Amino acid sequence: MIPRIAEINTTQKLYLDFIEALKNSHFGGEVNPDYASRIVLSTDNSIYQVLPQGVVFPKSVEDLVLLAGLAVEPRFNGVVLSARGGGTGTNGQSLTDGLIVDISRHMNQILEINAEERWVRVQGGVVKDQLNAALKPYGLFFAPELSTSNRATIGGMINTDASGQGSCMYGKTRDHVLELKSVFLDGTLWSSAPLSDTELDEIKARNDRVGEVHRVVDQVFTEHRELIDAKFPKLNRCLTGYDLAHIRDEAGRFNLNSVLCGAEGSLAFIAEAKLNVLPIPKYSALVNLKYAGFQESLEDAAELMAWGPTSIETVDSKVLNLAMNDIVWDSVKDYFPQNDGEPTIQGINLVEYTGDDEAELKAKIAKLTDYLDSVAGQPGKTFGYTVTFGAAEVNKIWGMRKKSVGLLGNGVGERRPIPFVEDTAVPPENLAAYIKEFRALLDSHNLAYGMFGHVDAGVLHVRPAIDMKNEDEEGLIRVISDGVVALTQKYHGLIWGEHGKGVRSEYAPAFFGELYPQLQIIKGAFDPANQLNPGKICTPLIDGAELLKIDEVPTRGQYDRQIPAVAREEYSEAMFCNGNGACYNYDPKDAMCPSWKATRERKHSPKGRSSLIREWLRLMALQGVDIVAEGSKARHGSFMASLPARVKNSWKKKQGEYDFNNEVHEAMMGCLACKSCVAQCPIKVNVPDFRSRFLEAYYSRYLRPLKDYMIGGLEYMIPYLSRFPAPYNWMMANRTMQSVFGRWVGMVDSPAICTNTLVKGMGERGVPFATAQNLAAIMPEHKPHSVILVQDAFTSFFETQLVLDIIDLLRETGFNVLVAPFKPNGKPLHVHGFKAAFNKAADSNTQMLQSLASSGIAMVGIDPSMTLTYRQEYIDDGMRLPVKVELIQEWLVKHCDLLNQKAEGLPQNDYKLMAHCSEKTSAAASIADWKKIFQALGQTLELQATGCCGMAGTYGHETENVETSRKIYDLSWSEVVNDPANDGRLVATGYSCRSQVKRLDEQQLQHPLQVLLQLLKTA
Ligand SMILES: Cc1cc2nc3c(=O)[nH]c(=O)nc-3n(C[C@H](O)[C@H](O)[C@H](O)COP(=O)(O)OP(=O)(O)OC[C@H]3O[C@@H](n4cnc5c(N)ncnc54)[C@H](O)[C@@H]3O)c2cc1C
Ligand code: SF4
Ligand code: SF4
Repeated sequence: MIPRIAEINTTQKLYLDFIEALKNSHFGGEVNPDYASRIVLSTDNSIYQVLPQGVVFPKSVEDLVLLAGLAVEPRFNGVVLSARGGGTGTNGQSLTDGLIVDISRHMNQILEINAEERWVRVQGGVVKDQLNAALKPYGLFFAPELSTSNRATIGGMINTDASGQGSCMYGKTRDHVLELKSVFLDGTLWSSAPLSDTELDEIKARNDRVGEVHRVVDQVFTEHRELIDAKFPKLNRCLTGYDLAHIRDEAGRFNLNSVLCGAEGSLAFIAEAKLNVLPIPKYSALVNLKYAGFQESLEDAAELMAWGPTSIETVDSKVLNLAMNDIVWDSVKDYFPQNDGEPTIQGINLVEYTGDDEAELKAKIAKLTDYLDSVAGQPGKTFGYTVTFGAAEVNKIWGMRKKSVGLLGNGVGERRPIPFVEDTAVPPENLAAYIKEFRALLDSHNLAYGMFGHVDAGVLHVRPAIDMKNEDEEGLIRVISDGVVALTQKYHGLIWGEHGKGVRSEYAPAFFGELYPQLQIIKGAFDPANQLNPGKICTPLIDGAELLKIDEVPTRGQYDRQIPAVAREEYSEAMFCNGNGACYNYDPKDAMCPSWKATRERKHSPKGRSSLIREWLRLMALQGVDIVAEGSKARHGSFMASLPARVKNSWKKKQGEYDFNNEVHEAMMGCLACKSCVAQCPIKVNVPDFRSRFLEAYYSRYLRPLKDYMIGGLEYMIPYLSRFPAPYNWMMANRTMQSVFGRWVGMVDSPAICTNTLVKGMGERGVPFATAQNLAAIMPEHKPHSVILVQDAFTSFFETQLVLDIIDLLRETGFNVLVAPFKPNGKPLHVHGFKAAFNKAADSNTQMLQSLASSGIAMVGIDPSMTLTYRQEYIDDGMRLPVKVELIQEWLVKHCDLLNQKAEGLPQNDYKLMAHCSEKTSAAASIADWKKIFQALGQTLELQATGCCGMAGTYGHETENVETSRKIYDLSWSEVVNDPANDGRLVATGYSCRSQVKRLDEQQLQHPLQVLLQLLKTA
């Protein structure tokens, strides 16, 4: 039995007092000093891990004012505050051992869009893609780009002065900031915009912090103009943070925003911003060039700039290969064909053109491609290219490019690519020579790495692979960083080219030289006691205030190495999460993490759950627990022998006894096991897998709820219940029984078992079971048109008519259909951590399916989630050989010719596919199969973008999840289902999705094959 974890790093008294004082004020947000929230926010995407004392979630500008005002009270002088947005910093920008002020959770409203004057006003926590989605109907967009655009906030972008692809055309974030509403540390709310000298003088005369800040900044600028000019490099990616070089704008006006932008939360909280927005270019295109070497692509890119593109990005083969092995490749592979006789692609250049005049754009591209044709085959030139027209297609390639940054963090083995010198910038003309030396430096330490860059801006992305758990390798951070700083200086560039400084602020004094003390004076004017994100960018001139050092901040590796290697291996699915935050995707129409979207609590995300498991493993290890052995004991131990102890522990839990196990458990129970993380996370973090292991261990200590046994046993009970469904159905429909079930068992809205059984329907149709005898009787020439339907409990017993409809359709199309005898699939057991029972079910099922497979007849499953279990959970532990059970569309698409023969005379309709999340993410190519199947019958099918429906097997039926399940449904499904324009057009592949729509909107969605059957019947 796993032990209780009572010993945790508790919150310091000063912070508990601060939090208490905050609660006693009129603070409207939440305050969370719980260990789980602290652990989850102790990392960003960097190599560092710093445990905060707590997290606060302000709801309004007033909350920020209260917080800042309280912090300057003398009793709270030691309190430090660090603002946090999406937490996607690569260098510890938002990490703190003080209090995190998470602005992203509540302050994420778009306040005003003025399309006519082309500006918007937003709160600091608005996500960049969220803003652009809102602007799209107006034909406008917020131009600064970054790879993390689906989770990074405007506050974070402003504070790191973010930019990325297209920066040569559109500049950096601060180029689009019109006005900032900031909260200074004394609680002053201040709006900053360019000021005339008269206005500046008036403000300077004020006798408060605002006056002080303006006086100091203006004085530093006036007195050190030449030094500022000499120190700030003239790069496209000019220096961020305390940007004195731009304190006076082109019109000579004083603009405090150039100091605030890029300040990494070290000067003020950005509550709101007024931003400049631009018209979306009407036309866009990409020329995708292939090269035999990365150096060639880099050098050529510099020449290609002469052809006047909007941007050029170069990607190396390593990154390309990572993309090729990811779900993202499916959408772009046609643009990078590996044709016969061509060399292997070792580098690509993506040359972008945008504009409002189509003819002009095409003429530019024609000029470029004429040139490319003329140099084809010459050394160092492209050996082939494709052209992509139109925003939709171009965005797919940029999507791949954006994801590549995250993919760069992926790899195999213990050495993983990590960020610390990942965003250097040098003048573009120096880039190729600089990269040569950079590579030599990495090669001299035998480090593997992938590279890509914004060649037009001279920015290079690279993440060397280092095992930070290995003490011997840890020192490489210093060696490589110092080497790269020297190189960037040699080539007149910067180590902080794009992602901000964070812990790397250590290099600021060396870079700024005699100007650095002036920056310290500025910091002192805003934050005299060094309370705002201390150690980053700059320190005030006070005793004890020091910049962080790249090798003195605790790293994740130092914590992770405390976990024994066997435990790390067992939970490797959690260990390798690198915190890039792709799972914080804001888009409600994207499958990624419904539990995070519905709760906006980061502990309910894949990253949150991974972080908690890592800490849980560490704390277990500190108690000398062999967690792998505990798992095995839990699997094979006696239920009765451990019962008294579990009763006692559960009773103590009810009495409020603290145990970190319970915090981890709470986060795991919020997971829908939808597996979107498995497919969409660049590192393929598999939460359902480690969640299952954790639950197994957890319930060796605590009692399981009754519902778990019901859910786990459902597949076993249902064949018996279905023989006499009336009593079960009566119970489930009876109001008193419903409330008893809801309250005492923890299950609600259980569906009724079908009264027309599958066996009866098969008998009526003369459809046989796939027994050895029946299979042996099939003549070899009939096998290609025979198929075995592999049953699942949900469709066979709760949607029997669907199974019969599918049988009818297949027979109508000319197939010989057999049905595999029903056997529990085991997925619900896996979800709830009944590992031993799952293994039994999987072994038994595999055995049966293997024997059926030996007939050579294709096997297909109807429900995507249950069917994908055969290729995922069944083989994940390496204990079973794979059996091929295809999704029905994967198999049927190979027989479109048969379908096509039935197309004549059918009416033509348009349908919309509401695909199941696991199908969309884990078998993405099969969505195109559905389209082809419909096309074969002359029908149109388009994929309707939606997130999760909120049901996910039995999740939505569990009493404690009902509210979240509904919230998830409302995020993207409800609107589509209730849109009158979609009447009769929607089809859904998942049993869960159909039952959720029936339960919440009282509509019966059809399976795609059911509508095809109806068409054939009515023809
Ligand atoms: C895979 C990957 C790819 C990336 N690609 C790019 C890229 O292409 N271009 C680029 O520029 N960056 C990139 N980054 C870095 C990162 O995404 C950006 O720095 C981003 O702007 C951070 O936004 P955030 O909301 O996550 O901020 P956080 O990481 O939460 O915070 C960043 C800094 O801003 C401060 N801050 C946040 N909100 C506020 C506020 N309201 N008031 C005051 N201070 C605040 C924090 O204290 C911190 O110092 C990448 C990161 C990753 C992991
Ligand atoms: S779970 Fe995956 S997507 Fe989320 S932070 Fe970790 S590595 Fe990134
Ligand atoms: S399985 Fe689904 S709900 Fe659970 S962590 Fe992964 S994406 Fe989130």
